[in-house]
Order: sequence, then structure tokens, then C-alpha cells
Amino acid sequence: MTAPDMVPAMQRSAGIITDNGGMTSHAAIVSRELGVPAIVGCGEATETVADSQRVTLDGNKGTVVVGEPESESGTESEPGGSELTGPNPTDDALEAPTAAPQTTATEVKVNVSIPAAAQRAADTSADGVGLLRTEHILLSTGKTPDKYVQDHGEQAFVEAISEEIRTVAEAFYPRPVRARTLDAPTDELAELEGGEKEPSEHNPMLGYRGIRRSLDEPEMVKLELRAFKRLQDMGYDNLEVMFPLPNDAEDVRRARELMDEVGIDRDAHDWGAMIETPASIRSIDEIIDEGIDFVALGTNDIVQFMLAVDRNNAMVADRFDDYHPTILEAMAEVIEACNEHGVDTTITGQSGSDPEMAKFLAEKGITSLSANIDAVDEVRSVVARAERELLVNAARDTSDSSTQPDWDSPPIVTPVRWANFSSISGSHGLTVADNVICIRTRNRGEIETERSLTATWMAKIGLIP
Ligand code: PEP
Ligand code: MG
Repeated sequence: MTAPDMVPAMQRSAGIITDNGGMTSHAAIVSRELGVPAIVGCGEATETVADSQRVTLDGNKGTVVVGEPESESGTESEPGGSELTGPNPTDDALEAPTAAPQTTATEVKVNVSIPAAAQRAADTSADGVGLLRTEHILLSTGKTPDKYVQDHGEQAFVEAISEEIRTVAEAFYPRPVRARTLDAPTDELAELEGGEKEPSEHNPMLGYRGIRRSLDEPEMVKLELRAFKRLQDMGYDNLEVMFPLPNDAEDVRRARELMDEVGIDRDAHDWGAMIETPASIRSIDEIIDEGIDFVALGTNDIVQFMLAVDRNNAMVADRFDDYHPTILEAMAEVIEACNEHGVDTTITGQSGSDPEMAKFLAEKGITSLSANIDAVDEVRSVVARAERELLVNAARDTSDSSTQPDWDSPPIVTPVRWANFSSISGSHGLTVADNVICIRTRNRGEIETERSLTATWMAKIGLIP
């Protein structure tokens, strides 16, 4: 498997093949961001393939050809394939996908793990960063956070981290960037300098990671929070804080108290929590009561924990089912609860890049999706289509009715997420594109005004009489 300190080498690679890992392992996440073809979970690939041996891989098909590809003559490569010995394709791969022109009411954001991919991500049409995995930044130092602090001091740690995050905040400004506090399993940390002090765990995915570790080691997470605050104080008011892997409201409350201790202004900057465990799904109402502005559905972990399927174990990869009815039901419940309370919802797991899942969640009223760089435009198109369908269906319902719409009855008047009205955030204003009405307001007191404006717009484009 790859580890955070291998990112510079991964950036220089023409392709990546790993023995272990699944769709959501480090190698898969980082190579997608870099635009480097990768095949993970190949079993004994590193033993089967000898040093300097020619190999062709196709990341789309998931195939590895050892030796000369059949269609190859001379030094030409098979279409769609990538040669490990050929010219480094990284520069081409790093070209930004063409921005999609559509506007959607459901925001479409992008996941970022490494600052090197920030500009490529920002060049998409993404409405912001739905998840910045700061562990890749923290661990790219080659040292565990403890070791880094021990060697260089607290202030150096805060500055080093904030400078890396700044690259992302700057590339996206003023679009929001949700930076998550450290969520690294101990087996990954063990690979780094200082890693010998990491506990040895039978199942690191179920172990000492995420908020549970941060709450146990508050001084360390406070340094991370200080790095976030440093950026906010520098004017990066687009930086938001997110906590990984809480189980319940108490976890979220204690994390919030740490933010307060560090002096992060929660009125000025949105903050939130990942929903990733069955317990947090069951506790969603209480978690909302802690004052969060948003939740992020971490489906990589939700699926892992609800179905008891190790996300990094290729043996059970075929059982990693994002579409299991219990998963879909759980996500719909969280979205509904959040919409009732005006709390934003997003999906940040791998399945947020899947068009079918994007459609399902858009129809359920999720307020944003966060996808991989290469999936942003497709997800946006799918969401735009789903929203148009919602509008058209609602308009048909309205015109079939012999009575005038009841303006006080939200679901009839505004097919685009009337129920979510109070939770939609972003820049203030109303836009209409492709018959999709986008309502954005920061000031929840303006909801009534927005409501009547929306009705006016809908009448203008002929969706309602
Ligand atoms: C998730 O669990 O879906 C998620 C986005 O977090 P990570 O993959 O970093 O655990
Ligand atoms: Mg997770």
C-alpha cells in the first residue's frame, strides 16, 4: 500500500499498482487526485512483476498487462493504457477538466487531500472543497505529528500545517474549504518517523483514530485548530472546521469546546461533523443540537461500519455495497433530520462521485455533494438533470390541479427543496439557469423574501401560473 510520505514519488509516477487496498485506500484517493492511473488490491503484483519490467495498466478498466501489450508494436502503447517506462504523463493528467457551465441548487464540491492537487481541483466548476483530508498534509512531513512537534516545536507545526492548507484555501477563495482534523489510523502513522511509538492495534480502522484520538490528545488537536484559526485570522474566512468520526453528541460537544478554547469564532465560520458510524446516525438529532452548521456523510466509513466490511480488504471488496438498502435509508434519514433543522448536508465518501448515488441524494434533498476531481462535472450534470425533473414533475402536478397553488404550502410552490430553504448557504442571490432555480441565502431571516422572489421567478419562466 502507499503511505502519505510516498506522495512525492506518486506524483512522479506514470502509474501505480498496489498489492493491497480498495477504492478508498490512500493509493486510490491520492492517485485519483493526481490524475495518475492506478490499480489497487492486485494481490501479489509486487512479487510477480520484476524491477524494470515493462507493464501496461488501464485504470479505467482495472487491467494490468505484464510485458508487451498485444496491440503494441515498437514503443507505442495500447490506447487507454499507460506505460511505466514511457514519458511521464503526470503533466497531461494534471490538466484541469473542462468546467461545466450548469448551475445547480445542490452544490457540487470537490474532495482534496494533497495541496499539489488544489489548483487542478479549483479549476473545476466545484462550489468549494467538501472535504480537505488534512492527514495527508500532516503526514507528508514524514514524521508523526508528535515527532514533528518534538523536533521542531509547536509553533513550527502550526505554521507548517497552515501554510499547506493555505494553498488550498487560496486556490478556492472565496469558495468554502472544509478542513477536517486528523483522521489517520495507527498503522499508517506507524510507517513514519516516530511511528514506533504508535500503539499496535488488531484493527486500526476500528481503533485509535479520528475524533476519539483527538479528544484523548487534546493538546495535539488544539495545534491543528490553531493552524485553522491562523488562516482564518489571515483573512481566509472561507475555511471551515470539520471533525471526523464522532459517535454521539458528547463527542461533538467536546470538540466544539476545544474550538472555543482555541478561540475559533463559530459565528463567523461554519463548522460541522462527519457522520460515519451507526451510532452517529442514530444520534443525529442530538448532534444537530450541539450547534453544527453542516454534516458530511462519510460513506467510506458508514458502509464499512454498517456492513462490517473492512474498506481496505480486497477479499471483501465485493461486499462493500454503497447501495445496500440500510445505507440508503440511513443517509435519507440523516438528510431529512438536517433539513428540518437547517443544517447543511453533504456526502464526502467515494460514492459521492457516483452519478447514480448523486441522483439519489439530490432527490432526497442533500444540500451538496463532494466528488473526486474527475467526477465533478459529471455529478453536476446528473444533479442538474435530477433538479430539472423535480421541477418539471412539480410543475405538472401544479398544472394538473384545478386550484391555484397554495403559497403557504411549501412543497407545491417550490419544487426545488422548499423544505430545505433555510439550510441553503452560499452567496446571496437568486439565479435561474436551464429552468433550475437556485436559492442561496446566508441570512436565515430573509427566507420569507426569498420565498416570494422564488415564486415570482417561477411564474416568470412559466413553471407556475
Ligand atoms: C469517508 O469515510 O467516507 C470519508 C470521506 O472519510 P475517509 O475516507 O477519509 O475516512
Ligand atoms: Mg471516514
